[in-house]
Amino acid sequence: MALLGIVRSVAPRIVLLPHTYQARDFAPMLAARMRVPLITDVTGITGTGGEATFTRPMFQGKLAAEVKPVGGGPCFVTIQIGAFRADAVRKSGVAAITPMAITIDAAAIRQRPEPPFQEAKAAVDLSQAERIVAVGRGIKSQENLRVAEALATAFGAEVAASRPICDSGWLPMARQVGSSGQTVAPKLYVALGISGAIQHLVGMKGSRVIVAINKDADAPIFEVADYGIVGDLFEIAPAIVAAIAKG
Ligand code: FAD
Repeated sequence: MALLGIVRSVAPRIVLLPHTYQARDFAPMLAARMRVPLITDVTGITGTGGEATFTRPMFQGKLAAEVKPVGGGPCFVTIQIGAFRADAVRKSGVAAITPMAITIDAAAIRQRPEPPFQEAKAAVDLSQAERIVAVGRGIKSQENLRVAEALATAFGAEVAASRPICDSGWLPMARQVGSSGQTVAPKLYVALGISGAIQHLVGMKGSRVIVAINKDADAPIFEVADYGIVGDLFEIAPAIVAAIAKG
């Protein structure tokens, strides 16, 4: 409601929002209420202002579509987490910050949130993790997850997984990375025994440094990796842990 008043008074050409759970909740309502376009999960922008074209994934990341808003009104755009890297930002002037007074009629608020569930408090937010060790089907069994956990502890990293690992119930769904899981952009992403299917890559390709450990030299994960180690993860991961322990 606050944003509705601001957007109506400022009348911008484009309203950029992060593609978070919260924005996904209110942005469609806002756009529908204003009868203006909403372009979601954007990974690239070309052109500026009225000429901007937005790139967004389609069909679970199999295709990328270029979308141009039509009509004169503001266009709401949500940006995929990790799609743009902070270290690639080019400085060009300073955007003006204008404080605005908001008045909201309390009687008009029709939702009252209950206290958060216990599960939500414990849930991991991979999108904020600085380092991630992600494990795939190459790990072979749930018991072997301790190999990935030991590596994650050595790096001070969160453990994440490809979809088959979460589908098997070996790790909770909150730790799944990919088109039907989390989008992450840590400083370090270590992929252990992950082949690099497109549905996985769309969720982690924005990571700053990607290290892939896979015994198949032709695995597609090596196409996005900054460092690739071809070999058996059950030999390599413990060797890295031992090397870190030695300092
Ligand atoms: P695999 O493809 O089986 O790869 C295992 C890899 O481990 C292989 O490359 C193998 O060489 C390697 N390996 C085996 N043993 C060792 C060893 N000892 N040492 C080192 N390497 C070893 N997937 C996701 O991850 N996230 C998603 O969000 C997601 N969403 C999807 C949505 C849809 C609609 C569909 C259809 C699929 C989705 N998938 C998703 C599944 C995706 O297509 C792949 O099936 C999945 O990512 C494969 O997981 P994986 O790499 O762990 O397994």
